[in-house]
Parts: sequence; C-alpha cells; structure tokens
Amino acid sequence: MGTGGQKESFRDSIGTVDAEGKRRWVFPKQPRGRYYRWRTYLSFVLLAILFGLPWLRVGGAPLVLLNVLERRFILFGLSFSPQDFHLFAILMITGVVFIALFTVVFGRIFCGWVCPQTIFMEMVFRKIEYWVEGDANAQRRLAQAPWSAEKIRKRVLKQGLFLLISAVIAHTFLAYIIGTDAVLATVRQSPLDAPLGFLAIVVFIGVFYFVFANMREQVCIAICPYGRLQGVLLDDDSINVIYDYERGEPRGKIRKGQPKKSSCTDCADCREGRESCSDQILHRMEAALERDGHRSASTTPAPAAAPTQNYTAADVLQLDTEPVRKGDCIDCGLCVQVCPTGIDIRNGIQLECINCTACIDACDEVMDKIERPRGLIRYDSESGVARQQRRIWTPRVMAYSGVLLALIALNIVLLGGRDGLDVLLLRTPGLLYQENADGSYNNLYSYQIVNKTGDELPLDFSVVKMPGAKVRFVGTAPAAQPGKITEGALFVDLPADPGPAFNGQVEISVTVEGKEVEHLYTTFVHPHKNK
Ligand code: SF4
Ligand code: SF4
Repeated sequence: MGTGGQKESFRDSIGTVDAEGKRRWVFPKQPRGRYYRWRTYLSFVLLAILFGLPWLRVGGAPLVLLNVLERRFILFGLSFSPQDFHLFAILMITGVVFIALFTVVFGRIFCGWVCPQTIFMEMVFRKIEYWVEGDANAQRRLAQAPWSAEKIRKRVLKQGLFLLISAVIAHTFLAYIIGTDAVLATVRQSPLDAPLGFLAIVVFIGVFYFVFANMREQVCIAICPYGRLQGVLLDDDSINVIYDYERGEPRGKIRKGQPKKSSCTDCADCREGRESCSDQILHRMEAALERDGHRSASTTPAPAAAPTQNYTAADVLQLDTEPVRKGDCIDCGLCVQVCPTGIDIRNGIQLECINCTACIDACDEVMDKIERPRGLIRYDSESGVARQQRRIWTPRVMAYSGVLLALIALNIVLLGGRDGLDVLLLRTPGLLYQENADGSYNNLYSYQIVNKTGDELPLDFSVVKMPGAKVRFVGTAPAAQPGKITEGALFVDLPADPGPAFNGQVEISVTVEGKEVEHLYTTFVHPHKNK
C-alpha cells in the first residue's frame, strides 16, 4: 500500500533513527482538534478504570487479580486456579482472535485510542511535557540550549513529575498482581522489613520511568509484538488512518494561476468561451491562508505572467490540460510535525503509525483554513481511497468472525458448567490399613480443595452407604478460603465387617452446610474386602 507509485525508500529505515544509527528525538507538535478532544475524554475514562479496578471488591474478593506468583487469578469475580488453566488458555485464545478480527477490520484503532502505552504517553506524560516545557519548538530550543537555572528548573520539574506518575503506575501494576492490601502493607513497612517487596516496587518504577521518559515511541516501533503483526493482519479493506493520495497528490503550495485540481467545478464556462472562470475557490484559499498566516504564496512568488484575478478562458483551458494540476495537499508539513512517531503518513500506511489521529486533526485544520473539505487524511481503507470501494464483510472477516463466535460459545459453555469448588481426595500412597482400638480399620487420605467462589466454605466429609463408617480429620475440618487452595489429611474408618457389598471402594459425600457439593469415589484397603 502506498501513494501510488511513489518511491518506497522510506521503508528502508525508521524515522526516529538517523543515517548514523543514532536516535532522532521526536518533538511532536501538540495536536488539537476533535479527535484529540475525544481521545482525551476517553483516556480519562480508561485511566479511571485502570487505577480504580484493583480497588473494587465483590464479596470481599478483588474484582480483578492476576497473581502469577501464587497462581491465583480472578477476572471480574470469576476465580481461576491452576486447574482452570485450559479455561484461561481458551479465554486468551478468544482474546487473540478478537484482536486479530478487530485489526483486520479497524486496523490499529486500539493502539491510538485504548492502548495503555499510548494513553500514558500521549495523554499523561506528553501533556506534562507540554505544560512544563511548552510546545514542540520550545522543547527543541530547550533541548539545544546550554544548561541554565531555567533549564534545570524545567527539567527537574518534568522528570520529578514523570517519576511520581511512574510510581503511581508501578504501585497500581503491582496491585493487579498481589492485591491492594499487600501493596499497602508493603508501602507502610520499612524497606528493611520487606526488602523484596520494596525492590519489586523500585524495579517497576524504574521500568515505567524509562519507558515513558526515554523509550517512548520506540516501544510501539521496535518492541510491541502487536505492532509487528500489522503486516500480516492488514489488507486493502482494513480501516486505517490514511492519506487520500488521489485527492492530495501531486502535493504543492498554492500558487496563483495554478488552481488545485479539486477546485475545478467543471462548470464548462471556459469551454463555452466565456471570458472568465467562475471558480473562485483559489482566491478563497489564498485569502484564508493569508488571514491565518499560512500563506505560501508570500514565500514562493507567483509567476510574473500569472493572472491575479479571475482566469481567462484561455488560462483555464490551458490549466485543464496541464498534466500536473496540484492536489489538495499544500505540503505544509503539519501532519508530520504532530506525529508522535516521526513519520509522514503521506508515504502510505506504515508500521510506525499508531493511528493516533493527530495528523487527521492537523490536516483537517489546514483544510478548514483553505476551505477544502476535511478528510484529506482520514479513517479509510486503501481500496476506499484508490477505488472508492469500502467493504467490511470480506471473506476473511467472515471466516474470523465464525471462529470467534465458536470460541465465544465454547467459553460460555465451559464457564457456565464450571464448578465453584474442586475437591481432590487421594489415598496416601505406600500405606495400607491400620486397625483402630475398637476393631475398625482406617486408611489415611490427603485432600485438596480449590475454592473458586468468593466465599469461605466450611466443608464436611462423610462416608455414604456404609453404616458405622466415619471420617476423622487430621486437625480441624477444612474451611476453604475464597480463591485459595486448602490442603489437609483425613482418616476414613470402616467397620471390621464392611458388609457383603463392599468391593474395595468407598463413596464420600462432601457437603457445605448440609448441601452436597461433591460426590467422590475412592479406594479403601481393608483386610476383609469381598471380591
Ligand atoms: S497537513 Fe498539510 S502536508 Fe499534511 S496532508 Fe494536510 S495539507 Fe498536506
Ligand atoms: S501518522 Fe503519525 S500522527 Fe498520523 S496517526 Fe499515524 S502515528 Fe498518528
């Protein structure tokens, strides 16, 4: 995909690395416009969710917990244990298919609007930078200026705020892993009392600070795996931030006597021999540019022979046949100046583009000023721009949708039929039976209870269909903690004569407050086992 035959040498290097391989720091101009405003509002909502989620609780348990250390996961109130790994894996696969489908249809909208990296970078850290150091030109000047009291003040303030925000993000990140209670406990403790917790927080702060103060767009360009997938996921029908090269090219400054190709309304005045062209769009463009200080004609004087008022029929006829009548792009470069990844979207869809829409806003502003329709850069597909064909339901999308629906159905079935409690009872290997003082016989068992609910469950075990049999716990009866694995041991006692029906197996009923929650079968080694 590209600008129709333009040289593609820009794909040989990335815009943020110079010819010597050194990092070229990007100073993007602050965007302004409707998309930037909407993204700002959405970022407030998403940041509130991100910071608030670990504090939300359902029945005392966190709403979301991703405790990889203790292998304990809670997603929106649903507890997952290591035994549920298959469910977790299917959920993850469903998520990946959803992202693939979403990308095939809507390109990298996720990157520009929802990705935490973009939200923190563009809506938090970059805004702080604009506030402390000013817009792009002021930042560039400050970077090049020698160290002074003013520069030190601004740099200390900015980096101090960056560190502070990184600390907040690090603590939140940790809260997702170990829970808010553990994070608060770590914060209240002296670093000497909890050196590992303290070290983890310091490492997280350092990583986040490094990412947002230094790595920045390099995360999207060189590290993020999702960015790398674009090449295989996008096709000509995917919607992306795209430059309409059909309308914009050949780009060029507005010059008198060279109306834009889109300015011609095809009124045919010229062809009918009328004296002057009634198309006054060029004059309105020039007046608007002059008014807003963007006038290019002042830096590139019009040809001496160019008409300054209306065009004669001869002029227009000549321009009509001119092979290089200019497109709507006035080559002002604003779309490049606002780009946080330092690329020129006019080169075509690129791996570096995170679909942040800054160039759409910048170009729309220019189009407003020169009184041309907005959308020279817009959300569209390659086939939309090149052939005016916009298709969502392509065979590829239908196939992905089918797979996604099947996976969603599988998730519903598996999650719907999932027990809130798993009980595992195993006879201790290597041990036979022991005779009790009353003549009965016992076997020793170990149990493991996985409580996936949000409540503490007091469990009781009893032997069924065997009069005189009983269960004795080693220690107290288990009270399964919510979202945790409870382990212990118990004895099963069978009478000296287990009866004619005994075949070496016992049935155990597990109850919670009198209600059976599990029914287990296990072996029992007894000296009087019947065949
Ligand atoms: S912002 Fe300026 S340079 Fe970029 S596409 Fe629009 S008119 Fe052309
Ligand atoms: S080209 Fe740059 S400014 Fe435009 S959407 Fe892509 S990343 Fe943003």
